[in-house]
Amino acid sequence: MIARSEPGCQADLWKRELGMGITRPEELLDILELDRGLLAAAKAASKGFHLLVPRGYVALMARSDPKDPLLRQVLPLMEELRDPPGFCPDPVGERKAVRAPGLLQKYRGRALLLVTGACAIHCRYCFRRHFRHGDDCARPGRASAAIAHLARDPSISEIILSGGDPLLLDDPAIAVLVGKLEAIPHLRRLRLHTRVPIVLPSRITDGLCHTLKASRLQPVVVLHTNHARELGVAARNALRRLRNAGLALLSQSVLLRGVNDDAGRLADLSEALFQCGALPYYLHMLDRVSGGADFNLDEAAALQILDQLRTLLPGYLVPRLVREAEGRPYKVPIDGATLKRAPVSHRTYGEMTSKNR
Ligand code: SF4
Repeated sequence: MIARSEPGCQADLWKRELGMGITRPEELLDILELDRGLLAAAKAASKGFHLLVPRGYVALMARSDPKDPLLRQVLPLMEELRDPPGFCPDPVGERKAVRAPGLLQKYRGRALLLVTGACAIHCRYCFRRHFRHGDDCARPGRASAAIAHLARDPSISEIILSGGDPLLLDDPAIAVLVGKLEAIPHLRRLRLHTRVPIVLPSRITDGLCHTLKASRLQPVVVLHTNHARELGVAARNALRRLRNAGLALLSQSVLLRGVNDDAGRLADLSEALFQCGALPYYLHMLDRVSGGADFNLDEAAALQILDQLRTLLPGYLVPRLVREAEGRPYKVPIDGATLKRAPVSHRTYGEMTSKNR
């Protein structure tokens, strides 16, 4: 099914915004009125994984606050250059899960198609920050081996588009890809893992919504968002467009020190997501990737936060705390039953959410 044509301005706006993303640390520091003393570290730490952040996302950051939780996710810091033991370039062993160029299978019944190495934003904690994107993707025109593998394996019923961010393919490329996947009779669901509706909301075009809505594959969009302040007006409108197209919306987050390591912040995020029609799904422990150690929390701290979060929200808004572990047949739940319980907090939601976020 080919996407309907759209007015050129709507279809191309997101490409223009993507092209105008901030890549120079000095520009980011100046816009945010931050001390240029951070510049040398930002330049050194961004050499292997460069700075990239859309201007609309920067507009959601506080000025003059080097600890702003949105800034923290994108600003390269000297800490990235120090790896404690246990941190490595491929922390969940994805290289062993490759079935064809750009096709990974980690779990029974579903497979991941990495359709691009590009992202709209570079998240400093990303577990794929060392991925060889040029070689390892099933980009348009290079996906035939992956599609052939999927067609040969009737045990796979769900295909997950990932990357990079799959929504950086343009509407015609997505329509062609979805058409090829629809032609595989044993595929039932089409899942997209994406941060784009949050960080580049103009990408959610009518054409994209139409392609997904019209597919015979049942579409599921899994958002990646880590903080309620990421859900500005534009992102909320983008999620509304996806919902209005009848797509199921789930959300996953990474538990990040200095960003969302606080039950009140996570409660705000779940509430905001549900208002937008998205259900919180997973809260991931950080994958121990080289360069990401400064975001890491240990499991005891994570369990304390989860325990507090459960006191703030109805059960259906509490995401499952999990860790991905190489070779395991499913994401491993971090079980609250193992928590040596601290005294239950009797603070009210208002008390827990009143501090500056
Ligand atoms: S793949 Fe996702 S987490 Fe990694 S840099 Fe891209 S948007 Fe961020």
